[in-house]
Amino acid sequence: NCIFARMNSEDVKAIEALLSKPQKIAIVPHKNPDGDAIGSSLGLWHYLKAKGQEVRVIVPNDYPRFLKWMPGTNEVLNFERDNAAAVEYLNNADICFTLDFNHLGRVGQMTPILEGLKATFIMIDHHQAPDSYAQITYSDAKMSSTSEMVFNFISYMGDVEKISSEIADCLYAGIVTDTGSFKYSSTTSKTHRVVAELIDRGANSFKVQNVIFDTNTPDRLQLLGCALNNMVILEDYNTAYTTLSQEELNAHNYKKGDTEGFVNYSLTLQNIRFAVIFIENKEEGIIKISFRSEGSFSVNEFARNHFHGGGHTNAAGGRSESNMEDTIKYFKALLENYKDQLSK
Ligand code: 5GP
Ligand code: MN
Repeated sequence: NCIFARMNSEDVKAIEALLSKPQKIAIVPHKNPDGDAIGSSLGLWHYLKAKGQEVRVIVPNDYPRFLKWMPGTNEVLNFERDNAAAVEYLNNADICFTLDFNHLGRVGQMTPILEGLKATFIMIDHHQAPDSYAQITYSDAKMSSTSEMVFNFISYMGDVEKISSEIADCLYAGIVTDTGSFKYSSTTSKTHRVVAELIDRGANSFKVQNVIFDTNTPDRLQLLGCALNNMVILEDYNTAYTTLSQEELNAHNYKKGDTEGFVNYSLTLQNIRFAVIFIENKEEGIIKISFRSEGSFSVNEFARNHFHGGGHTNAAGGRSESNMEDTIKYFKALLENYKDQLSK
């Protein structure tokens, strides 16, 4: 029954003991939650609810429209929008699951609240270099997604039979978004076995992919056109970058999530191993940056070392507090130090 799992058995026993009593449980994903953050959180939420626990998902801020079909989405507390209720729930929580991130800085404005909680922390995450804030850490950077790990967790609890079609749809959504529809190198045969099990348990793979990937708006496609037009290729560094200014975003009625996946287009160019998108956010006074690579060049290190960010070897994010022009200048100057790595 546990063929999918890779979790320390003492940790599993400790969690089983905790969950043998009624607990007040919070589930918290990272800021600007993506498909994996929301899918893993709601998948775990349905599972713990079915086990009779009091449980809520609390997101640091809003998430994109193309994720709001997920069962349970209407019961999610948004720390920005429902602040008082979220703070009260967190302060009284016995257990706090943190999903799809591994250092408390990743929850934005929620960081000081989480740092002060008396709750037992349980981390489930697939990013590199986890911090040690959690009493129980299930961390595996080889995993395709946190959603795959939530499946493993349920399997380790001996509860695969308890996976409902709601849980299956949520976890499927998380896996399909974080693997680029099973295409990225993090996708393993085990990922496919987990997904097969989810489909057997009621995940509607066609419906889920359709609602996530095939519900574009004309505005969003035209914004993509704008990003592709702005693309700059730096042949000597096998690098391509693109930009979107706040003005360009406004001109296309930008909504949260609209730029998801844009950075991947540059990476499909032959010989391009490093792709970057710089997106201006005037309200926060930052440039939000997404980094992608193919092969051994670690964008995790690059984002960590130069742009206050992090992530995975081939997908990471960060930010700059300078304006667009200065950010690009700084970025280009940095590339010189990586020329060997990028051209081999
Ligand atoms: P994206 O570029 O799609 O926003 O994020 C790519 C990956 O990098 C995701 O796994 C995401 O969790 C991570 N990531 C994005 N932004 C940040 C950041 O500011 N800090 C850290 N540590 N990770 C980030
Ligand atoms: Mn993830």
